[in-house]
Amino acid sequence: MNIKKSLFKSKKLFDKSFRTFFTLFAEPLNCICCEKMCYNIPLCKNCFQTQLCTINYNNRCSVCGKDLISEENICLECREEPVIKHADFVFPVHSYKLWKKDLLYTWKLNNTKQLSEVFAQIIDSVIKHFFNDKNIIIVPVPPRPGKLKQKGWDQIQDLCKYLEYIYGYKILNMLKRINEDEQKSLNRIQRLEHIEKAYEFNSKNKQIFDEIILIDDILTTGATTEACAKILKENGIKKVNVITLFYAD
Ligand SMILES: [Zn+2]
Ligand SMILES: [Zn+2]
Repeated sequence: MNIKKSLFKSKKLFDKSFRTFFTLFAEPLNCICCEKMCYNIPLCKNCFQTQLCTINYNNRCSVCGKDLISEENICLECREEPVIKHADFVFPVHSYKLWKKDLLYTWKLNNTKQLSEVFAQIIDSVIKHFFNDKNIIIVPVPPRPGKLKQKGWDQIQDLCKYLEYIYGYKILNMLKRINEDEQKSLNRIQRLEHIEKAYEFNSKNKQIFDEIILIDDILTTGATTEACAKILKENGIKKVNVITLFYAD
């Protein structure tokens, strides 16, 4: 075991003992979903198990992976105006609705880093469900450079640390973000054009693999997924799979 790994594990052990100690004195939190009292993360054990860990693997769009309402195997958007063309497999885990939106918000904006561990567990179970390959390479979608300065931490990188040191996956930063502009003010078309130019292949990475899994927090228009998948394909990756924690309808 390398030093980095053992340091991370001992930090985890420390976190755990600290947490046990902490829960004895800490102010309890309220579950974002059912409002019951809970500790450490703003989600109670029951909601974590029944809501987050219960994943619907059936009846998904064969292009974007979102839950389907109709019997067709492709959703309306992917039939009429498909955005994702270069990804081979896309699986956004949960719909980004109601309290799930609050949960993601809490993770990203309130620095609730404990949620990284929870989300890594979800990603690991999805990887096990579809791939069952511990050696598969995971590629994080890089954050906007401005975002890092603003919030001080990169949630996806943090989640990937857990995937690496606790679950044993290999993480490779194959992508780099190059454009700093905020995207929220852009309309859909502008966003699609803009995102296409926002990422590039990280030339520091010389290794090429047949298959990777791209990880992101949320699938919205699919533009980020498409931009990243396209670059990876152009740089020799044969099969690009994508897993995101949430998707917006
Ligand atoms: Zn609850
Ligand atoms: Zn679709």
